[in-house]
Amino acid sequence: MERFRYQVMITDCDHGSIEEEKEELDRIGAELILAQIRKEEDLIRVCKKADGLINQYAILNRNVLDHLTKCKVVARYGVGVDSIDLKAATDLGIIVANVPDYCIDEVASHAVAMLLTLIRKTVFFDRKVKSSQWDFRQGPPIHRIQGKTLGLIGCGKIGFEVAKRMSAFGVKVITFDPYLEKVSEGIELEDFDTVLKESDFISIHCPLNDSTRHLIGDEALKKMEKKPMIINTSRGPIVDERALIQALEQGLISGAGLDVLEKEPPDDQNSLLKMENVILSPHVGFYSEESISELKRRTAKNVADVLRGKRPASVVNREVLGKTRATISID
Ligand code: NAD
Repeated sequence: MERFRYQVMITDCDHGSIEEEKEELDRIGAELILAQIRKEEDLIRVCKKADGLINQYAILNRNVLDHLTKCKVVARYGVGVDSIDLKAATDLGIIVANVPDYCIDEVASHAVAMLLTLIRKTVFFDRKVKSSQWDFRQGPPIHRIQGKTLGLIGCGKIGFEVAKRMSAFGVKVITFDPYLEKVSEGIELEDFDTVLKESDFISIHCPLNDSTRHLIGDEALKKMEKKPMIINTSRGPIVDERALIQALEQGLISGAGLDVLEKEPPDDQNSLLKMENVILSPHVGFYSEESISELKRRTAKNVADVLRGKRPASVVNREVLGKTRATISID
């Protein structure tokens, strides 16, 4: 009978195969079990002997974690770790790891795709042609891209990739990012009002938090002098949807491309669903076959790293280092 050095449980996940995870964990002689459970009592019963957990939606509260006496690491698929009680994990010496950057290329390209679609009105024309209307004169106004200004709200990993892509179109890139002291060559750091005032296109790439919730609301929209197109691939509530709809109706802005909404999926009555100058996608920016494969592999590697005594690439509860249950070479 095959003997394994470790046992790793996937509490739950919504992807079909666990091939990448298995490959990573095979390397350290770990048995990998896909449990597909979410109930508290099942989590305690099934995972109590696990050395490590991989988690997607199942809630790992203090009570569950208290019972997992062998567990040294919980690796979450993706960025958010809302499903895990971080304080409890830290108290118990359990490392919580995530993968914060598996889909930078995808989200940046999605934002640019939405922007180009709006500028060149490709979806608009597609609908017309398919309803037997072959007439470019329905399109105006369409403006040249070169020479326009793109304003980024947040210029971290994704914002920077958007800047790179749009610079290739001859667009000037400015950004408002209060946490950056300097930005890469070719991007100009500006204050919020200047970005609103000078941008022909605005693309949102900051995180959602108390200071960014409804950052783009009535007041900000009124400061947009160039009737910009607004792209949001970040988080829905950064834009006040009621104010956005009003601004679109009043022509204060010329279009919107939204991968994220305040309520996902939206209600059937949401006016955005009926507007010709609005394009929508179902929070899909993160997705490509490659990004998901990378996410699965790196999540499993986080577990494998801890079990073989290495610090994983991204530790969420950094306070745990120095008092981990696992023996990590550089704590
Ligand atoms: P990042 O942390 O690398 O960059 C975020 C940037 O926003 C940082 O430079 C930060 O300084 C800046 N920022 C913080 N507060 C700000 C504020 N009040 N105003 C302006 N800028 C501010 O993050 P990232 O990897 O570039 O991701 C950006 C966002 O994209 C994430 O927060 C997430 O919400 C979203 N996202 C969406 C999808 C999707 O599928 N649509 C997938 C992944 C990430």
